[in-house]
Amino acid sequence: MAYLQTATVEIDHESFRDHLTILDEQGRRKWIYPRFQDGPWYRRRAVLAYVLLAALVAAPLIRIHGQPLFLFNILERTFIVWGIPFFPQDFFLFAFAMITFMVFVIFFTSVWGRWWCGWACPQTVFMEFVFRKLEYAIEGSAQQQRRLDAQPWNSYKIWRKTVKHVLFLLISVFISSIFLSYIIGSDAVMQAWSHPADSAPLLLALVAFSLVFYGVFAWLREQVCIGVCPYGRLQGVLLDRNSRAVMYDFKRGEPRGKAGTTTGDCVDCHLCVAVCPTGIDIRNGTQLECINCTACMDGCDSIMAKLGRAPGLIRHATLEQIETGRPFRITPRMVAYGILWTAMIGLLAFLLVVRPEVKTSLLRARGQLYQQLEDGTISNLYNLRLINKTFRNQMVELEVVAPREARLQVIGAPLRLEPGQTTEGALLVFLPAGSIRHNHTPLHIAVRANGKIVDQVRTSFMAPMPPTSTLTLPRQTSP
Ligand code: SF4
Ligand code: SF4
Repeated sequence: MAYLQTATVEIDHESFRDHLTILDEQGRRKWIYPRFQDGPWYRRRAVLAYVLLAALVAAPLIRIHGQPLFLFNILERTFIVWGIPFFPQDFFLFAFAMITFMVFVIFFTSVWGRWWCGWACPQTVFMEFVFRKLEYAIEGSAQQQRRLDAQPWNSYKIWRKTVKHVLFLLISVFISSIFLSYIIGSDAVMQAWSHPADSAPLLLALVAFSLVFYGVFAWLREQVCIGVCPYGRLQGVLLDRNSRAVMYDFKRGEPRGKAGTTTGDCVDCHLCVAVCPTGIDIRNGTQLECINCTACMDGCDSIMAKLGRAPGLIRHATLEQIETGRPFRITPRMVAYGILWTAMIGLLAFLLVVRPEVKTSLLRARGQLYQQLEDGTISNLYNLRLINKTFRNQMVELEVVAPREARLQVIGAPLRLEPGQTTEGALLVFLPAGSIRHNHTPLHIAVRANGKIVDQVRTSFMAPMPPTSTLTLPRQTSP
């Protein structure tokens, strides 16, 4: 095997700096044939991967009160997260949630490194636990795949390649359907497949996304992690010497060489390179290409076990730990990110809790301060807007909490709101002249939906200043 034969080959350990591992000297792509490596880390990853795959497929099918668990309908600007609907009026909340998530990603990466990429990213999970597994099953081991690709086209090769790519295409269609279920809902996707003639644009989108996924998993593969994914490109600024990552213990491993001839534990077997899905040599240090998949840890541990040496020559560690031998330390940077993220999560939770089911906005009508009726009663006119932020019908009632003498009248706005409906109208508030003590009277209105108070609105009621000796008011309309 190549990974055993290389023990005696002279290697330029600095040449990796001059080129990308996925390109040859002419700049052409080098196809990576990662060797399958079983081990404790792989088995843990596999369990997590299948749980994540099951959740990813099931989530768009789960309904809460008839609505999906998750929906990111950009076209209709409707988002559902954990069954909670968000409408365009909640965009600030959604944007804040996204920023909070970004801060979490930065915080998480600064402490635990690129754990997400190797263990939970859909790209890796599908690639390693669906497509790669199929490839091993159809074309054989990494070595057999290399031989198959090198050999001329014959019936055996055509048959294997055809079966593989047809299956890849079918799985891509399935992934595309799942992906679009998160955007337009699973019912719409099923409708498109069952009645293609009535859903031509949607069917076109399904086909386009299927081809994109096929291209990603059949051809692009590790290129997505290395050159396309923005998170991957940010590793240089997110990681520092105190971030945990998959690390080669060069203090223990070097000088490397054939077992028994050197003092280092690395026997230069190249198994860690052979199993790497991005084709890098982790012994060169943390690299942009490393997705922390831990395959090299399993590979190296298996070699150490054969040699009767302790595992962990490649392990989760920080550069600081490897260099100094000191235990993992929480740095001020990690603490700062942690505090910031906790504060943002707290604020987000608060905003979600106080978010009303029916959002009410009351704005004074332009050009109208107040009107005076024949009997001296003063009225104020407001523009009223009601937004039903739920998926239930809402029967809305407005009632004055203070001042108690005030009464109100809704004009032109239906108070029965459909799910997600926005309605606009006017609100007239009346206050008897005898109740007016100031030209600005605080006005407090409670909003009930289906009998329950869901929002409170506070504004002011404008009136002319009453004379000190009498409450007779001057007749006045808007200035
Ligand atoms: S680090 Fe481990 S797997 Fe890699 S070459 Fe050295 S001994 Fe082999
Ligand atoms: S270096 Fe190791 S952890 Fe990083 S991508 Fe390669 S095999 Fe995975």
